[in-house]
Amino acid sequence: MPCDLLSLNKSELNNEFKEMNLPKFRINQIYSWLHQKLVSDYSEMTNIPVQLRQQLSEQYPLLVPRRVRAAQSSIDGTVKFLYSLYDGDYVESVLMKYKYGYTVCVSSQVGCKMGCAFCASTLGGFKRHLTAGEMLEQVYLAQKYAGERISHIVLMGMGEPLDNAENVFKFIEMVSNEDGLNISMRSISLSTSGVVPGIKLLLDRRYPLTLSVSLHAPNDEIRNRIMPVNKKYPVSELMEICREYSLITSRRISFEYAMINGLNDSDKAARELGLMLKGMLCHVNLIPINKVNGSPFSPSPQARVKSFGDILSKYGISVTVRRKLGSDIDASCGQLRRKVKQEEGIE
Ligand code: SAH
Repeated sequence: MPCDLLSLNKSELNNEFKEMNLPKFRINQIYSWLHQKLVSDYSEMTNIPVQLRQQLSEQYPLLVPRRVRAAQSSIDGTVKFLYSLYDGDYVESVLMKYKYGYTVCVSSQVGCKMGCAFCASTLGGFKRHLTAGEMLEQVYLAQKYAGERISHIVLMGMGEPLDNAENVFKFIEMVSNEDGLNISMRSISLSTSGVVPGIKLLLDRRYPLTLSVSLHAPNDEIRNRIMPVNKKYPVSELMEICREYSLITSRRISFEYAMINGLNDSDKAARELGLMLKGMLCHVNLIPINKVNGSPFSPSPQARVKSFGDILSKYGISVTVRRKLGSDIDASCGQLRRKVKQEEGIE
């Protein structure tokens, strides 16, 4: 693989170009073209001499994702993108419009190792980590498509961000830097299935972002059935690090809870969850599960979701039922990539 220029931060770019004896202002220009003006090709860098552009494109081909599909929901305007990567695989991101601005949901890996029973991302297995540049480009392409500034990022696409922590941390730093898009870390959420050592690494960074934990069950018995990661890091360990995280950072943890009919949605489960989270600086998001082709799980009825939420509220826990966006465009995690690969007969 040639040098992946888009993944280099400012100081790494300076080091890389030292040998070429490029003046500092040139390097700054190139960085700004890539990370602020968001070009996807050297030919667009109009204040860079043609000869240098030529040299760059030969020595440093841009290995950026290219858009192959954009499916827009006719219900809520959510756009799901499918990108092809330099090595021929695919990755997805989603652009959502909220009252407060545009949010991009970024993928961090091609495929996923976590094996959650209800999730499409895991079905084709794990392929590889995404580079920081490939994550940045998902934001850049979405911003260009929207024609407006992206204000929020959620690392909730395909993959487990804390299984690719180094690249993900670099992405977070570069996208929030004033040399780049300058998106505030307070407007970034990172979602994890509960990789405890990864949460510790994140805590060490003290980023002021929102940690989201895909909990989906109040105990090991239920969680083991749907999330293999729980066998390695059981609920008690996960809760311990979450408590530590919220105490040290004073930031509210957001717990995701996908409501699966008859599996994790009983009043008893709600009470157990209430007891477990009581007094913690947190928020619970209830999400009726999205149906994935070939999956045995179905969403809990609305009345069940309401009763579950009401019980949590009685424990003083702040709860919302997440609005479902893009249900007509396979917008959940891993669904579009899987569909396209099936159409191509790859999986
Ligand atoms: N691996 C990380 C990041 C993925 S985020 C994590 O697990 O948190 C994607 C979110 O969507 C996670 O909360 C995941 O559990 C949830 N999800 C996956 N498949 C889903 C489905 N079919 N319906 C509803 N939520 C789903």
